[in-house]
Amino acid sequence: MEKEFWFVVGSQFLYGPEVLETVAARAAEMAETMSAGGILPWRLVYKATVKTDGEITAIMKQANMDDSCAGVVTWCHTFSPSKMWIHGLGLLQKPWCHMATQYNRKIPNEEIDMDFMNLNQAAHGDREHGFIGARMRLPRKVIAGYWQDAALQQELAGWMRAAIGCAFSKELKIVRFGDNMREVAVTEGDKVETHIKLGWQVDYWPVGHLVETMDAVTEEEIDAQMAQYADRYDMATDDIATVRYQAREEVAMRKILKREGAQAFINNFQDLYGMEQLPGLASQNMMADGIGYGGEGDWKVAGMTAIMKAMAAGLEGGTLFMEDYTYDLEPGKEVSLGAHMLEVCPSIAAERPRIEVHPLGIGDRQPPARLVFEGKAGAGIVVSLIDMGGRLRLVIQDIEVIKPILDMPNLPVARVMWKPAPSLLEGVKCWISAGGAHHTVLSTALNAQIMKDWAEMMGIECVHINANTTLEEFKKELFWNDIAWKLRNL
Ligand code: MN
Repeated sequence: MEKEFWFVVGSQFLYGPEVLETVAARAAEMAETMSAGGILPWRLVYKATVKTDGEITAIMKQANMDDSCAGVVTWCHTFSPSKMWIHGLGLLQKPWCHMATQYNRKIPNEEIDMDFMNLNQAAHGDREHGFIGARMRLPRKVIAGYWQDAALQQELAGWMRAAIGCAFSKELKIVRFGDNMREVAVTEGDKVETHIKLGWQVDYWPVGHLVETMDAVTEEEIDAQMAQYADRYDMATDDIATVRYQAREEVAMRKILKREGAQAFINNFQDLYGMEQLPGLASQNMMADGIGYGGEGDWKVAGMTAIMKAMAAGLEGGTLFMEDYTYDLEPGKEVSLGAHMLEVCPSIAAERPRIEVHPLGIGDRQPPARLVFEGKAGAGIVVSLIDMGGRLRLVIQDIEVIKPILDMPNLPVARVMWKPAPSLLEGVKCWISAGGAHHTVLSTALNAQIMKDWAEMMGIECVHINANTTLEEFKKELFWNDIAWKLRNL
């Protein structure tokens, strides 16, 4: 997304105009230097050194109104009395990061006097600034460190990615080509609640409308789509007609998504009236371009896939719709095998994917073309958004994606193997206790902290299963959260 972040620096008139000029010049220098440093994925733009209630209120209103602003970063170079921030922060509707830093790295032994102390008192000012955030119970990210250090900039970069996910979420539209799979519980959810909390417009378009659109696709449009397939993948089938049918499906689905301004879609193998194949290759190739997808009508995982792909822009690693399938339970070496019957995004591919055609045991349609590949190893997360009834819960688990321990020559789908934290068995107990779905977004680009920041921005519950998690403590957290969120939603 084309966005920028605003840097707003707190001060007051107490120290005279020279100090304020110095603060403004340094803040502009800091924003420019950090933006040019290669770590921040979006620009940090210095906006103002604010001294009054009126100035703070005005800049926060501007931040709300300006679509290019994805979030506000504040810092207090000097002391900035926080009563004058109450009105502005109360109005702010964009994500807020409080960056506790200071212009100088070291305390200069010879130079330090009371003038220096008046100018360089971020340790003092940031505490006053922090109090009002706490007192107002505002969601905010607090980061701390020296502004030129990579560690601090990486923290800010992660928060920026979460804020981009927040902006993307508020504009997200999802097209449902069908309802969710019959009798399945975890793919259900309150679409109005999700619209209110996350901003998603989740609309149904009949499969018949998709089929009409497919029928209107021209041979030239199919040729162009086939050329893209040839460019991206190896054609490992002679059944070109079947691949061309996937191209027809893809062109039609893209047309409808574009017309609706949608960035994600779902379908359901139980609802393919008038279609000859379940979209496999078509869905996979759309995901490769950042479009979110969910199988069996799972619009929540489709939305999360699209959002997380936007958050991961420019990063190494894959971000994709995934499904837990089966385990290898050799003691001490337990791993989980994830796949989907067709629709695994090639952003995780360790090799150039192959287009293959194989029968599909479900859906009662012709054998579909699909991409087959092995997942690339790396540290990552799996994420599941579930509807707890009255609130949404985001379940995050740290994982280690490994090179598959088997060739699996007779499994004609893309496949990924991983080890969940803290261990497969303890991790499975925690995941199941939290109600995490079998559908997830797997990412080797993002980390849990970014997703936790996103959940805080969106005002939803979040639990994180990691190397330090024990089932005993985790169950207490789930129990306490249940009470806390009921109180919060009163
Ligand atoms: Mn599934």
